[in-house]
Amino acid sequence: MQVRVLIMGAGFSGLTLAHELRKRNFEVTIVDQAMAVGGLLQTQQTAHQLAETGASGFFLTDNLAKLLQELQVPLLEQLPEASKKYIYRNRLRRFPLGFFETLQFIFKSVPRLVLKTPLHARPQETVHDWALRNFPRAAVQYLIEPFFQGIHAGDLKQMQANLVLEHFFKRTKAKTKRRYVAPQRGMSEFLEILTKRLIKDGVEFQLGRNVSNDSGLADLQREFRCDLTVLATSLKAAENLLPQGSVTRATIGKCKMVGMVKMNIAFDLTTQRLPGFGILIPRDQKLKTLGILANTHIFADRGLSYNESWLIGGALGPEVQIFNQQGLINLVQTERKRILGDAGKIQEVLIARWPQALPQYDHHLAKLHQFIRVDQVSPQPEFKDLFFAGNYLRGIGLSQSYDYNLTLAEHLENLRSQK
Ligand SMILES: Cc1cc2nc3c(=O)[nH]c(=O)nc-3n(C[C@H](O)[C@H](O)[C@H](O)COP(=O)(O)OP(=O)(O)OC[C@H]3O[C@@H](n4cnc5c(N)ncnc54)[C@H](O)[C@@H]3O)c2cc1C
Repeated sequence: MQVRVLIMGAGFSGLTLAHELRKRNFEVTIVDQAMAVGGLLQTQQTAHQLAETGASGFFLTDNLAKLLQELQVPLLEQLPEASKKYIYRNRLRRFPLGFFETLQFIFKSVPRLVLKTPLHARPQETVHDWALRNFPRAAVQYLIEPFFQGIHAGDLKQMQANLVLEHFFKRTKAKTKRRYVAPQRGMSEFLEILTKRLIKDGVEFQLGRNVSNDSGLADLQREFRCDLTVLATSLKAAENLLPQGSVTRATIGKCKMVGMVKMNIAFDLTTQRLPGFGILIPRDQKLKTLGILANTHIFADRGLSYNESWLIGGALGPEVQIFNQQGLINLVQTERKRILGDAGKIQEVLIARWPQALPQYDHHLAKLHQFIRVDQVSPQPEFKDLFFAGNYLRGIGLSQSYDYNLTLAEHLENLRSQK
């Protein structure tokens, strides 16, 4: 039986889902309001740098490795110098705890890490409470908090431990070595390869379609005579596509997004460089920067200059969204001077502002998960032919979104066979 699926959103989630559905012989149309595919993923190649507006690479999992191999995406492995990562605690440190703090860590946390059971999150526990229950305060402040902020940019006192930690506990034995890789010419190369493949496989693209009014989605569903619809937009964009007055829309309406600014900066080669992969910055250092990536040290061919990516803002620094370009440059130079003793000679700055970058994994999102039955990937109560895909369902990273898509594609296949 031929089943037509309308996918709203041509970001990583929408495109990879289209690929999985096409492989299972569904008819697929992808609609995006933007003129180009990719959503948060865009590569900007200039004379100085190869800059990424969103993700700079993939954390490889078995499923993602298989996809990248199937599509024959040429991948770069991390450079050897990227194996070192740093935390800034008054100075750059590879291990940020002092002698007594390390002893406390050994006595309190090592038995828990070995037993694993106490590490499981309790119902409604925040990541902050979970961390304090399992680790001494210094380890929470200088290891756990910067780690989660580096990934989620969220507020640990709001984030729900069971949503965020679930996949750490569920990790099955992987065949693929977990590592960070990137397409040779950046994330846009991945998008180009996948899009070409989708077109070749007969997926229809409708780019530049602005659909946010109340009847917009229903009109599209009629226009493309689709049997199923998947909203593969960001969480907040999904809210706007749902009918006014629906419970799902109201539930999404309560969820919060976290804003972020990513600055890709090319420096003169005489500039003092960050060591290794980059650094994470604990909140008590009173800096607005969450982390810095030393792009030149992570992958080869990232441009002629030495370049860095600065991740600024997050849930605890929303004010950076209103800084103008010069304000952001001043901020980077002041904070870089403090961290490295050198503000650096800037050659080029590319700024990506994402006021609604990522979903906050808080109790509102947990309620949404319950309501739309994310765990069972089953049709949700209000709209039985409507499904969701995206970085608010199983995790923020690309590998988690892809894993979710595989489950969803399988589910839709089963649904088709029952019809
Ligand atoms: C700064 C930053 C760095 C990151 N780094 C990494 C990393 O290194 N590794 C990693 O794994 N992850 C990383 N992530 C996370 C990852 O990039 C994102 O989770 C992922 O790209 C999200 O993809 P998506 O397709 O779910 O959503 P999006 O990329 O937001 O795509 C959604 C699409 O929906 C479209 N849309 C919105 N509204 C409508 C509408 N009404 N009608 C039609 N279309 C619509 C948008 O135009 C967009 O194309 C990073 C995120 C950020 C912000």
